[in-house]
Amino acid sequence: MPPPFEPTRAAALARIAAIDARAYAKTRNALDGRVTGLGPYLTHGLTDVPEILASLDAHSVSRQEKIVFELAWREYWHHVWRHIGDDIFVPRRAAPFGQAAQDTMPEDVLEARTGVPAIDAAVSSLHETGYVHNHARMWVASYVVHVRKVSWLTGARWFYTHLLDGDLASNTLSWQWVAGVFTGKPYFFNNDNVARYAPSLARPGTAIDRSYEAMEVLARSAADVGAEPDAPAEGLPSPAAISDPPIAVTPLPDVTNRTIRLVHPWALGDRGKADVAIGILHRPFHERHPWSSKRWSFVLARMAAVTDAIWVGDLVDLEPSIRSARQVECTATLNPGYAQALPRLSQSVLPAPRAFPDPPLLQRSFSQFWQKVSDAA
Ligand SMILES: Cc1cc2nc3c(=O)[nH]c(=O)nc-3n(C[C@H](O)[C@H](O)[C@H](O)COP(=O)(O)OP(=O)(O)OC[C@H]3O[C@@H](n4cnc5c(N)ncnc54)[C@H](O)[C@@H]3O)c2cc1C
Repeated sequence: MPPPFEPTRAAALARIAAIDARAYAKTRNALDGRVTGLGPYLTHGLTDVPEILASLDAHSVSRQEKIVFELAWREYWHHVWRHIGDDIFVPRRAAPFGQAAQDTMPEDVLEARTGVPAIDAAVSSLHETGYVHNHARMWVASYVVHVRKVSWLTGARWFYTHLLDGDLASNTLSWQWVAGVFTGKPYFFNNDNVARYAPSLARPGTAIDRSYEAMEVLARSAADVGAEPDAPAEGLPSPAAISDPPIAVTPLPDVTNRTIRLVHPWALGDRGKADVAIGILHRPFHERHPWSSKRWSFVLARMAAVTDAIWVGDLVDLEPSIRSARQVECTATLNPGYAQALPRLSQSVLPAPRAFPDPPLLQRSFSQFWQKVSDAA
C-alpha cells in the first residue's frame, strides 16, 4: 500500500485496517511485500503506535508478530533521542574501519543515474513519491556510505529532506546503524540480495555484484567507485530542499479568554477540543532541517485542515500574540526548537503517544530495550 499518501485521517485508518500481520511477516523484506505505508501518518501524528496496536489487538494479533516488533523500533529510536538529544547527529562509536567522509552527495546518485538499478529505482521513488521501502533504504544508505564514501550524516540529511516520513531519530540513527557507528557492525548488501528481494532490479557486473567478503574489502578502501561506466549521462532532476515554509502568513484570530491548541507538524491528528487551533511552524528548525515541496504539501494540507490559522516564525516571538488566552495546550515533541519552546508557551503539554514504556535509563541496543518493554506492553 505505499504511495500515494493522502494527508487525511481516513487514509491513515484505511491503511491500518488493511494490515495483514501474517503477510507482513512473510513478505516485508521484498520490495513488493505487504508493508503498510504508515510512515508519513505516524511521523506526522495522523495516527500513532497505540492506535495501531489497538487495531491489531482487536484482530487478535499476537504481540510477538513482526509488525509489532517493527513498530517498537520506532519507539526505540525515540527512546534513544529522548536520552541523547542532538547527539543523534554524532557517531555513537568510532567507525569500524576508515570510512571516507565526503560531505556532498555525488550528482549521479542524486539524479538516479548510478547505473545500479536498485539504487536508481530507490532514489527515483524518494524524489518522485517521498517513499522508499525499508530494504531499499538500507541498500541506498549502504551504497552511499560504503561504496560511494559519503559520510552517513550527509546521506541522512538528504534522506530526511525528501522522505514524507522523515523522522530525525529513525532516519539519523538508521544511517548510523548502516554505517556501523551505532552497533559497531556495518550493514552490507550485494546483487544477490537484490536478486532475492527485488529480482527485476538485479544487474550482473555492477559495483555491488560481489561476495559479501569483497563488499567489505570495497568498504575498507578509500576510493569512491563512481557511477557504472555505462550509466546514463542524464537522469532525473533532484528536487529542491525548502527551508522557508511555503505558505502565506495570515493574522491570528482574537484569542482573548479562549482556549488554544498549538498544533505542530508532528501532531496533526485532530484539532482537539480547544476554542482555537493554531498551526505553528518554527522557522529556525526548518532552516536547519529543510523539506521537499512534497513533504511541505503533505504537512501544510493537513495542518490547514485541522487548524483555524497557521503561524510562522521563531516560537520565542509567539507568546505576546497568545498571552490573552485562557489556556494553551499542545502535544510534546522531541524535535529541537519546538521541544524547548512548547513548555514555555503552554500550560498543558500532553505526552506524545507511546505504546511501550520509555525506560528511564538509556537502553544501548534494541534487543535490550525489547527485553525490558515487551513484557509490559
Ligand atoms: C537508512 C534508513 C532511514 C530510515 N528513515 C526513516 C525515517 O526517516 N522515518 C521512519 O519512520 N523510519 C525510517 N526508517 C525505518 C523504516 O525504513 C521505515 O519506517 C519504513 O520503511 C516506513 O515504511 P512503512 O510505513 O511502509 O513501513 P512498515 O514496514 O509497514 O512498518 C510500519 C511502521 O513501523 C515503523 N518501522 C518499521 N520498520 C522500522 C525501522 N526499521 N525503524 C523504525 N521504525 C520502523 C515505522 O513507523 C513504519 O511506518 C529508516 C530506515 C533506514 C534503513
